Amino acid sequence: MDFALTPTQVEFRDRARAVAGKLAPDYQARERAGRIDPELRRAIGAAGLIAPEIAVALGGRGADRVTSGSNQGPDHLLGAEGKGFTQVMQGFDFSRALIGLQCIGTAQQSVDETWQYVSTREAFDRPLSTNQGVAFPLAEAETQLAAARLLCLRTLWLKDTGQPHTTEAAMCKWWAPKVAYDVVGQCLLLHGQFGYRTDLPLEQRLRDVLGLQIGDGTAQIMKLIISRQKLGRELAP
Ligand SMILES: Cc1cc2nc3c(=O)[nH]c(=O)nc-3n(C[C@H](O)[C@H](O)[C@H](O)COP(=O)(O)OP(=O)(O)OC[C@H]3O[C@@H](n4cnc5c(N)ncnc54)[C@H](O)[C@@H]3O)c2cc1C
Repeated sequence: MDFALTPTQVEFRDRARAVAGKLAPDYQARERAGRIDPELRRAIGAAGLIAPEIAVALGGRGADRVTSGSNQGPDHLLGAEGKGFTQVMQGFDFSRALIGLQCIGTAQQSVDETWQYVSTREAFDRPLSTNQGVAFPLAEAETQLAAARLLCLRTLWLKDTGQPHTTEAAMCKWWAPKVAYDVVGQCLLLHGQFGYRTDLPLEQRLRDVLGLQIGDGTAQIMKLIISRQKLGRELAP
């Protein structure tokens, strides 16, 4: 399997990184204010990315949802008429691997920060990291994230090479957000009361990856898909 990025993918990654660099400095303040500066939003759009505001009721802190209920007519069709369901399902086989990677990225950042934190915070005159009970959960997290990342990359590789990947996409969707939730939760606990506070991003991340266990299909539905792919509809739940 060749996971090397194509020049187009490298260009897109760098563009996304540049946007992330603009977003990162005031991230917490924007979250608290519950809004994103329209100029920044336009810059994100100009880079070919989207920045929807997620409604508070859906776990976000923004104001609006991106939605379209209007009938645009036949000249606005995005694909062949009557093929929308298939098209959307194929989209899910892609987005589920991406959601997996999104959650893994969130969890990996939390683990990186937590290694740093436990190496510098002292209790009883020695760094927290010198306790197995502190270091081993992070070692386990590194292992689980490495495995989940590989699963997501393999799914995208199968897609890129035109091979079936519905089962693998469903595996990414139920497992990676669950691993990420457990890992971010562990990182939060290792920060003690600071982890629980809103001035660190850990509690927000925990809520974000929890939402991604539900959005785009729950674990039960993913396991239903895997079972049906393996057994066929007759024998599966
Ligand atoms: C953060 C977030 C973002 C979202 N983004 C979008 C979006 O962009 N677009 C969109 O259309 N929707 C979106 N959703 C909605 C999401 O897709 C649905 O909430 C999700 O598919 C579950 O559907 P439901 O809430 O109706 O739960 P239900 O279908 O009522 O299910 C409730 C529980 O029962 C279980 N269950 C249901 N049926 C079965 C079954 N046959 N066998 C076993 N267990 C079952 C489910 O797994 C779940 O645990 C989002 C949700 C969240 C939380």
